[in-house]
Amino acid sequence: MKIQDTMGIKYDQFSTNRRILMGPGPSEVHPRVLNAMATPLIGHLDPQFLDIMDDIKSMVQATFDTRNNMSFVVSGPATTGMETCLINLLEPGDEALICINGVFGERMADMVERCGGVLKSVEAPWGKPIDPEDVRTALRSCKPKVIAIVHGETSTGVLQPLEEIAGLAKSVDALFVVDAVTTHCGVDLRMDDWEIDAMYAGTQKCLSAPPGLSPISMSYRATQAIADRKTKVQSWFMDLSLVQNYWAGSRRAYHHTGPVSAMFALHEAYRMVLEEGLENRYERHERNHLILKEGLEEMGLEFLVEEKYRLPMLNAVKIPDGVDDRKVRKQLLQDYNIEIGGGMGVLDGKIWRIGLMGESSSINHIHMLLSALKKIL
Ligand SMILES: *Cc1c(COP(=O)(O)O)cnc(C)c1O
Repeated sequence: MKIQDTMGIKYDQFSTNRRILMGPGPSEVHPRVLNAMATPLIGHLDPQFLDIMDDIKSMVQATFDTRNNMSFVVSGPATTGMETCLINLLEPGDEALICINGVFGERMADMVERCGGVLKSVEAPWGKPIDPEDVRTALRSCKPKVIAIVHGETSTGVLQPLEEIAGLAKSVDALFVVDAVTTHCGVDLRMDDWEIDAMYAGTQKCLSAPPGLSPISMSYRATQAIADRKTKVQSWFMDLSLVQNYWAGSRRAYHHTGPVSAMFALHEAYRMVLEEGLENRYERHERNHLILKEGLEEMGLEFLVEEKYRLPMLNAVKIPDGVDDRKVRKQLLQDYNIEIGGGMGVLDGKIWRIGLMGESSSINHIHMLLSALKKIL
């Protein structure tokens, strides 16, 4: 039934196609997770909800592989987690060294400047990892409080090795901040072993929950840096000294209304990750990436990134000469209900970004895409 407003504009009930999600996120969501999300609401301070939050905290610790007490979920997409980490750790005048080799490194750099930080950067061409030697060189001329880097650059398909740069951060007593949005629950990532001080993730990539939440964790050193701040965090909403009262402690005070339904979904999505087992999940992402790679290469398509730095969950392939990027993606969506991603920034029109994330990392997805692409090309 169409509903009409006082201006005569009519609103039909929306209807969407059943899409096959193989872009850079959101990935597909299992019916168990969708069912959990449809659970009738309870209050966001209901003791039963607080129990669910406690479970989620503990599942964030398990999947980040950390014992950090300050591990929870901020309300907002993964960009909220990024901004929460940076603006809580940086005060005006503090130096931050940001590693930039794609869209998300650039986003972090922009945030540093907006919160009054002094931006230093190390860059690599899009499609290449950051070279630890360049970080070492940069550290000769600055003394950053924070060094930040993206583990999986979703805009280019690069998997960044972290351990050497973590060691450099430690050697100059800087806090090491890692963007794990794409890699969380998709490739090996160990927050404590690799001495990461602040890490944030997303829900709509390899975790396969709906978008809108961001799991984060802070090391003891990071929480000390927050406690030692001389100025207030500019954002009231993202000030962790306030947010943590809702997630931890005995009071569990109101801060903002927690997104109850999204958290129901996240709880079930994390349970499914643990049920599969992290190692098995990493292995599945790697295996399916290799199957897709073989199929794409048989069709003559080439990857953007050198083999050993490829993200298994985000396959960046070069668009062949003479092929119209937008036409192909439109056809995939219209005729086959398949969504893949296009390139961003300097890679616009040059690559396709094929996601094999979480529920979307399956042999069936690979076959559906390969046969559709064969028909279209
Ligand atoms: C998707 C993504 C983000 C941003 O996530 P949103 O949920 O869109 O805010 C940040 N970093 C990386 C590496 C991503 O892939």
